[in-house]
Amino acid sequence: MKKSKNIMNANCLAQIILFVAILLATVAISMLVTKHGRQTLGIQECTSHVTVSSGDTLSKLLGEQGISAKDIDTISKILKKDVGIKGLRADSDKIIFSRRADDAPVTKIVLIPSPWKQVELTCNDGQWVAKTIDIEPDSRLIYKDGEIKDGDSFYTAGIRAGIPEGILADVYDLLAFEMDFERDIRAGQNFSVLYEENYSEGQKVENGRVVAISFQALRGDVKMYRFRKSDGSIGYYDEDGNGAIKSLKRTPINNARVTSSFSLHRLHPVLGFTRAHKGVDFRAGTGTPIPSAGAGRVVARGYNNGYGNFIKIRHNSSFETLYGHMSRFAKGVGVGTAVRQGQIIGYVGSTGISTGPHLHYEIIRNGSHVNPMTVKLPAIDNLNAENKAKFLEVRKLIDSSAKVLARKPDMFVQL
Ligand SMILES: [Zn+2]
Repeated sequence: MKKSKNIMNANCLAQIILFVAILLATVAISMLVTKHGRQTLGIQECTSHVTVSSGDTLSKLLGEQGISAKDIDTISKILKKDVGIKGLRADSDKIIFSRRADDAPVTKIVLIPSPWKQVELTCNDGQWVAKTIDIEPDSRLIYKDGEIKDGDSFYTAGIRAGIPEGILADVYDLLAFEMDFERDIRAGQNFSVLYEENYSEGQKVENGRVVAISFQALRGDVKMYRFRKSDGSIGYYDEDGNGAIKSLKRTPINNARVTSSFSLHRLHPVLGFTRAHKGVDFRAGTGTPIPSAGAGRVVARGYNNGYGNFIKIRHNSSFETLYGHMSRFAKGVGVGTAVRQGQIIGYVGSTGISTGPHLHYEIIRNGSHVNPMTVKLPAIDNLNAENKAKFLEVRKLIDSSAKVLARKPDMFVQL
């Protein structure tokens, strides 16, 4: 009896030891699992997603999340000052609030004003800090080509080719200094446009940017490619990597000295009374060649009392330039002549109301005279050697993508 009790005790002890061992193992495993679980929770945090509806204001939504009036004020100020966000847009903006536990205060707010931009507000030691995160869209390339038919404008032909209106408007802007859309359009000209469609989570959100343009212009093929330089800036370049956005020159004659600047009130040296000087005067000797400030078409060539011999060139739908007091015009340059940037259109003189040989130069934007020295013009931007080498690779890729899409328009091609 006693013996068997001892045996029982021994058995019991063994069972207890085994039980304890199993218990310890279980605790250890569960601790490991919990630790792992906590880490996961730490990354995910507790989040609540809010879609802004009509009538919602930032302070209302933040208040609903238990954020204090003082913090709401701070956050609104940061958003306005650092991020440029003044209010919320119903049915499009989203906000994600994160906290470390269900009942803990909000420590992170992510404002999503567009699929391509997130504003992250974090609270560290009571200080709110904003950070803007740009999200690269998933972009698909779309290729469209067409031909100008009799009586077409580029717009009509572009729409017929299936180019969306917004993309066409961008193409107009890009080609503006290269072509005159009223006069450089002829039946039989071919064009193509490669542009992006932006996707977010598999859904098309919008049309993106123009990637490449090709246009059979009167002066030869015009080609443009979009390229991101090593510093991150984006520009458009021709086949060889030269800046494709041709601008107007502020000073048509290189190194010429300004003798009279643009002014709305100046005492006229010859007339003797106050009169606006709607251009800039450059000193140069009689007979100095005058190059065109940009590509365009001559819209006026003649003589009047004030300007003497003058030429007016239309560069695009908004810009014109005028050159006055010429001694003579260049051969072959008349009304209707298409000119390149830098092409000689005439020679410096002192015809009209003038005190001595000089070039009087005007820039007219949308019918109003602007100061050639200060008017905002698109910059000419050429690539350096490093970027040029990279550009030529990208150009090959763009060209081959366009070729593939011309044959198989439904293919999903990304750059
Ligand atoms: Zn002048």
